[in-house]
Amino acid sequence: TIEFVRAAQLQGDEEPSGPPLSAQAQQKESIQAVRRSLPVFPFREELLTAIANHQVLIIEGETGSGKTTQIPQYLFEEGYTKKGMKIACTQPRRVAAMSVAARVAREMGVKLGNEVGYSIRFEDCTSERTVLRYMTDGMLLREFLSEPDLASYSVVMVDEAHERTLHTDILFGLIKDVARFRPELKVLVASATLDTARFSAFFDDAPVFRIPGRRFPVDIFYTKDPCDPAPWGYTGVPDGTGVYGGGKWLECFRGGWEEIEAACEMLQDRCRRLGSKIRELLVLPIYANLPSDMQARIFQPTPPGARKVVVATNIAETSLTIEGIIYVLDPGFCKQKSYNPRTGMESLTVTPCSKASANQRAGRAGRVAAGKCFRLYTAWAYQHELEETTVPEIQRTSLGNVVLLLKSLGIHDLMHFDFLDPPPYETLLLALEQLYALGALNHLGELTTSGRKMAELPVDPMLSKMILASEKYSCSEEILTVAAMLSVNNSIFYRPKDKVVHADNARVNFFLPWAESGYSSQWCYENFVQFRSMRRARDVREQLEGLLERVEVGLTSCQGDYVRVRKAITSGYFYHTARLTRSGYRTVKQQQTVFIHPNSSLFEQQPRWLLYHELVLTTKEFMRQVLEIESSWLLEVAPHYYKAKELEDPHAKKMPKKVGKTREELG
Ligand code: ADP
Ligand code: MG
Repeated sequence: TIEFVRAAQLQGDEEPSGPPLSAQAQQKESIQAVRRSLPVFPFREELLTAIANHQVLIIEGETGSGKTTQIPQYLFEEGYTKKGMKIACTQPRRVAAMSVAARVAREMGVKLGNEVGYSIRFEDCTSERTVLRYMTDGMLLREFLSEPDLASYSVVMVDEAHERTLHTDILFGLIKDVARFRPELKVLVASATLDTARFSAFFDDAPVFRIPGRRFPVDIFYTKDPCDPAPWGYTGVPDGTGVYGGGKWLECFRGGWEEIEAACEMLQDRCRRLGSKIRELLVLPIYANLPSDMQARIFQPTPPGARKVVVATNIAETSLTIEGIIYVLDPGFCKQKSYNPRTGMESLTVTPCSKASANQRAGRAGRVAAGKCFRLYTAWAYQHELEETTVPEIQRTSLGNVVLLLKSLGIHDLMHFDFLDPPPYETLLLALEQLYALGALNHLGELTTSGRKMAELPVDPMLSKMILASEKYSCSEEILTVAAMLSVNNSIFYRPKDKVVHADNARVNFFLPWAESGYSSQWCYENFVQFRSMRRARDVREQLEGLLERVEVGLTSCQGDYVRVRKAITSGYFYHTARLTRSGYRTVKQQQTVFIHPNSSLFEQQPRWLLYHELVLTTKEFMRQVLEIESSWLLEVAPHYYKAKELEDPHAKKMPKKVGKTREELG
């Protein structure tokens, strides 16, 4: 058991007044009554007047106040979509875009995809009629490619602005520019109660419209002593969990989907063992790639007498509001990308969350009644170890994709782009260098024909280069499959804790292509493969196939000559190369020590030359999705990047048969 101490009460803006919302909801009021009960509703007229009077408006409001679902509807009702004009509302997360669009369609009594729809990468649920468009920020960014002035939009609402994702940050600069020469365009920047002063300053002191929150007090508890989260039932990633309190619903924040699935499994398992000793407990996961039918379940009312636990990533911090949460369990971590511009390496790591995040998480407990938040760290750690706010993504990610897009939009002087917070100079420089190495830019930094094609494909530059190269090696059929599988990476193989051996055996015997089984879900089940991920990969593949013509790549198969496929992959991924040295794998250019993940089928084999799709830092810097190559191919596909001398191997003959640790040693 962990001992908790109670912190001073986090007092809300307002004292509780009237019956809690969930009680109202239980009275089965009509959907319109629910709409009228939201904190934004009393401000409807005032808000519409402010929008009419100002081109840019910053909107600040507590999570759950109705910004995302209501404001676009108000604008629709006010006639902003007359003459076929559209309203865009961006979301940093796919799940949020889908779920919110579904909710709004229901509120408006229309079919999703008609008047209201969503558009996320590889999934377009809109039509000619769709005037309210919820979309990821990345998708609106891509809209600029086909419509640089967003002429068909009357309003652009950049929602969840405080998340400061890379795409949202780039949108700020582009939209500010468009707004200058389109005075009739309305720009709304909506944010939780963070950062609004900065947004206002960025948009030439645009006014801030505040929606007063409706928040109940949340009692915060810290652990008395620093606690090792591992004993909380789940090892592997240091953000364990395990509490299920005696009250109503509980929300619990976890790093990523693997941790979430593991935590859910563990909870379900414990409940099974406790049997009728405890009240029924619904255990529900929510994370970005969760399929929509599963997502919908977290919003469904809990049967009387039962309790609900939602195990969530950051997504439930502000993007989604789940009614009725009374307890929050916060291990204090999140999964975050970080980028080292010196080595060009991106890694996904579990890091302590910021104070701002911790407070958003705690706030989830006070939406409908007074709640409690248990922080699995000490008050001292909160004070001294957590950063105030999360570093904007633009400062901790690679920029290849965005630079390519901006170049395609004719923005050449990236150093002087209007950034809310500029990226590190080295990161920008490295992105330019890498795009040059991929042949997307010429030596003057101008977009090449190949670069223009690469920008057409909604995938990372290396992946799009690989697809383009498949034309030369006549293997686009296979490459499309590879690209699709990489885009759902890391969520294909299912490895339940109690069947690890079975799952690993199944994986070793992974020879029968899924297609031969008739894309069967049964086959997936028997082989411990996630059917949902496979289905998504299939969708992605179809989409990419549809784009081949635009980038002038014909559909051809390698007819079993997989060297061609591997060469095409090398054409895109040549700077993700590692070589086996006497002290293990090192990246070729940066000489960074890296490891093959023990789950990889190449782990035992330890080939001399490897390509990797990405690096993930957990206990070590692991290469994820690796491919064996020959060093001579590097000279063939990237002679401008590699010199023969670099690829010589002085120790070739003295090479020990096997280097590195065994699977067991690495754990
Ligand atoms: P904000 O954007 O200010 O955080 P939202 O517009 O997302 O607020 O949410 C307003 C209300 O709508 C919340 O009370 C939330 O519970 C409800 N809501 C949002 N999405 C759904 C959904 N998919 N199902 C049920 N209720 C929802
Ligand atoms: Mg919202």
